[in-house]
Amino acid sequence: MAKIRYSIVAPCYNEEGNIRELYRRIRAVMDQTGDPWELVLVNDGSTDRTGELMRELHAQDRRVHFIDFARNFGHQIAVTAGLDYAQGEAVVIIDSDLQDPPELILEMIEKWKAGYQVVYAVRKERKGETWFKLFTAKLFYRLIYRITDVQIPLDTGDFRLMDRKVVDALKQMRERHRFIRGMTSWVGFRQTGVTYTRAERFAGETKYPLRKMLKFASDAITGFSFFPLQLATYLGFTIAALAGVGVIVVIIARLYGNQAFLGQATTLVMVLFLGGVQLISLGIIGEYLGRIYDEVKARPMYVVNEAVGFGENSADDEQRMTDDE
Ligand code: UDP
Ligand code: MG
Repeated sequence: MAKIRYSIVAPCYNEEGNIRELYRRIRAVMDQTGDPWELVLVNDGSTDRTGELMRELHAQDRRVHFIDFARNFGHQIAVTAGLDYAQGEAVVIIDSDLQDPPELILEMIEKWKAGYQVVYAVRKERKGETWFKLFTAKLFYRLIYRITDVQIPLDTGDFRLMDRKVVDALKQMRERHRFIRGMTSWVGFRQTGVTYTRAERFAGETKYPLRKMLKFASDAITGFSFFPLQLATYLGFTIAALAGVGVIVVIIARLYGNQAFLGQATTLVMVLFLGGVQLISLGIIGEYLGRIYDEVKARPMYVVNEAVGFGENSADDEQRMTDDE
């Protein structure tokens, strides 16, 4: 069996309108490389025909392999499973809605051959997104850049090519709350970017409602920064210092100014303000604590119903081997 050179990993959640087109475009691109490749589809608990279509594609082309999750585990976990199963020497992560143009993979492969171990795709323009998504995404990437300890490139999603060594390093990081683009920066290696224009979705709606976006953002922040925890300390010191100044002012006013302070409203506002700050700080600690609890439980990250085609001798490979001989 010829060794698989490239693995293309695509997480799919209710993408019945996209999967065939994704396969068609990937095949057109990957066949140009002249090397053996596999398409690793991850069915993240879809409720539409996504799973059936994967089976059909596999029957049609043995280079299509798929993992069927027992339920929806979320985008980052689906990508992780794809990386766990991928067999290639270079692995590409791509969205299944064709917002990431498969044609860019050839450019990534060029850079990989030139010696880079991670080639990430930087969005220089995004089409067909709401202003809200554009704004929050821009804000998010810049916030993450400022408060985290790793240098995560701006405006970069998960669309990237990674060398086998990088994938093996990532596979050792079994944290449950995952921010894969941060994790790939964290591991290091020789990295570079290529730019592209992010297209509109080929079919269907976004699978990232606000709720999922917020969870994603908090996983990214808590996973790579202690800044929110330190924020409580900074606020505490600032408020304590202000209170100290306040005490002095009150004493001076009492002694020299016989100025009486109107106390009730001030007291109420102060108490509420401090109560709010304390609750927020508790909440921040809770965010970290909940994640610690999740890690300590050490459940498997995902549950697989079925993994099809991995390690099989594919018809195409045999073809290629007889060709080579
Ligand atoms: N996705 C997934 N599981 C989920 C949500 C999304 O596997 O729970 C996949 C989805 O099928 C797509 C990719 O993750 O291939 C990115 O999702 P989407 O296109 O909805 O996000 P957006 O591009 O709108 O940020
Ligand atoms: Mg998308």
